[in-house]
Amino acid sequence: MDGPDVDGLARSMALLAGGHDDGHAHPQHPGDGAPGARSWGKAPDYHDDPARAAAAQAATAADRQRYLTAGLAPVDCRHCHAQVSVKKLGPEYTAVQWNSAAAARCAHFAEVRAAGGDSGRERSCPRLADSIKHAVAEGCLEAFSSAPSPGDG
Ligand SMILES: [Zn+2]
Repeated sequence: MDGPDVDGLARSMALLAGGHDDGHAHPQHPGDGAPGARSWGKAPDYHDDPARAAAAQAATAADRQRYLTAGLAPVDCRHCHAQVSVKKLGPEYTAVQWNSAAAARCAHFAEVRAAGGDSGRERSCPRLADSIKHAVAEGCLEAFSSAPSPGDG
């Protein structure tokens, strides 16, 4: 496998975006605790509630998909014209989402491969990073990140 770790990026994006309002309380089922389950000192999890664990997982997947697609702006590399999706996460931070077409097209990655390197270890094309900086400076990403989100059930 080569190409960037999109899955890892997705996770970090979800973490950074955080703060979604999933704060509704679920009533506990009385007498439904697993005997002998000792959970102090651990991060809360849903080991004793498989249904909720499954629901949480589904919600996470849906959230992840939303984080991945919301606010993404296409940015072309001025050097090799690979097109990636970029999301502005903060004033100084943008997340770049590579796809396989862009990774295959990027001249920088091609050079790395031609030199016998592992393009999967390259985080980004330096030319593209430059292009993204310009896109940010020109406010291209602001337009996307400030767009109203589609109906949030
Ligand atoms: Zn490039």
